[in-house]
Amino acid sequence: MLLIYNGRVITRDEACPWLERGAVAIDGERIREVGYELALRSKYPDAEVLDARGGVIMPGLINTHEHIYSAMARGLSVKGYAPRGFVDILEGMWWNIDRHLTLEQTRLSALTTLIECVKNGVTTIFDHHASFFHVPDSLFAIEEAAKQAGIRRCLCYEVSDRDGPEKAREAVLENEHFLRYARAERSDMVAGMMGMHASFTISDRTFDFAAAHKGEDVGYHIHVAEGAWDLEHCQQTYGVRLVERLRQRGALGPKTLAAHCIYIDEAEMELLKDTDTMVVHNPESNMGNACGCPPTMELVRRGILTGLGTDGYTHDMLESWKAANLLHKHHLRDPNAAWSEVPMMLFENNPRIAGRYFSTPLGKLRPGYGADVIVTDYIPTTPMDAGNCNGHILFGMNGRSVIHTVCAGKVLMRDRNLTFCDEAEVNARVRESAAGLWKSINS
Ligand SMILES: [Zn+2]
Repeated sequence: MLLIYNGRVITRDEACPWLERGAVAIDGERIREVGYELALRSKYPDAEVLDARGGVIMPGLINTHEHIYSAMARGLSVKGYAPRGFVDILEGMWWNIDRHLTLEQTRLSALTTLIECVKNGVTTIFDHHASFFHVPDSLFAIEEAAKQAGIRRCLCYEVSDRDGPEKAREAVLENEHFLRYARAERSDMVAGMMGMHASFTISDRTFDFAAAHKGEDVGYHIHVAEGAWDLEHCQQTYGVRLVERLRQRGALGPKTLAAHCIYIDEAEMELLKDTDTMVVHNPESNMGNACGCPPTMELVRRGILTGLGTDGYTHDMLESWKAANLLHKHHLRDPNAAWSEVPMMLFENNPRIAGRYFSTPLGKLRPGYGADVIVTDYIPTTPMDAGNCNGHILFGMNGRSVIHTVCAGKVLMRDRNLTFCDEAEVNARVRESAAGLWKSINS
């Protein structure tokens, strides 16, 4: 038994959304009880304790679109790189990195990214991986790091024809191999999807090959209409818009996660809605790549299950929320936009998306839910309760406010110290490995 106490508790449970001085009792991988601190301390006197130090106790955060493979890009300068558009960014930076990543660099990229996730209070990720230099076993290299870190993960490899048919085939088989492993695991800490890069790098033939190796129980994790070129290419090559092409390939549905969806029209929104396909919005990435602003508020209004991710741009979900909050207000010139939609995406929709791949219920501090709990050092300077806690989080916290991170009942970070690795030692190894990667990219 683990008892997290001495904090204000945001439960996200409508039955009891807020406790001014509360505690969370954890038994194994699940939450046993949420209640007043005095009551739970006397009920569980022998429990191991985790002192929230007066901060805020809340559910662990979920990131529904991550890219572990981008970890070693930080500070990288690629010779001759001067992108004029999004496809140049992919070619010159991201595909360039993935064409050089060794298996060990993939593993270290995973470890350093997962460390950042834990430090930012992220306890579940949906990752989308590419390392075309070395495809086989790359998802298992990530899995090795994820097992060490102890966070929930839904992994996939991004299938693409960009490096030729043999690499596309390897990518599909890597997904299939990993899916077989994930299905056999009994822990509910790991899941898999069929990853796909984007329509403009995937032929019909490759789509069919992926479909034949996917299995009925999973969907696709795919970039959709991230750049205008994806749409133009689809219309020129297949004579239809992107979501329609996915429909024709049988790729839509409640298990499919479509990242971005910037250049989609009304009919495509209807298709997403009718098929109950999931969408994930990545505001900083869209802005940073100058891709445009997706119609996210409209997707939410239409009831399309829309989550919030980071696309590897950051690992801080609260930063992603702040960016989305500003982006949509600015874009729509509507000061009321995004207030309720973005926290709903983060705190309700991301757990619903996770619920399509993990059987453990997540996203609430409620008995029976997964014991994914974080504590921040935030002390309010104005009155705080269930009704205004989102305003306190948005304006008063960021990812690095997190002091303790617990996932599936295991303490992964205590008082900002990681329990699963020596952070300084990992950082040193990652820096050395990144230097090697940069050299190989620029040689
Ligand atoms: Zn992405």
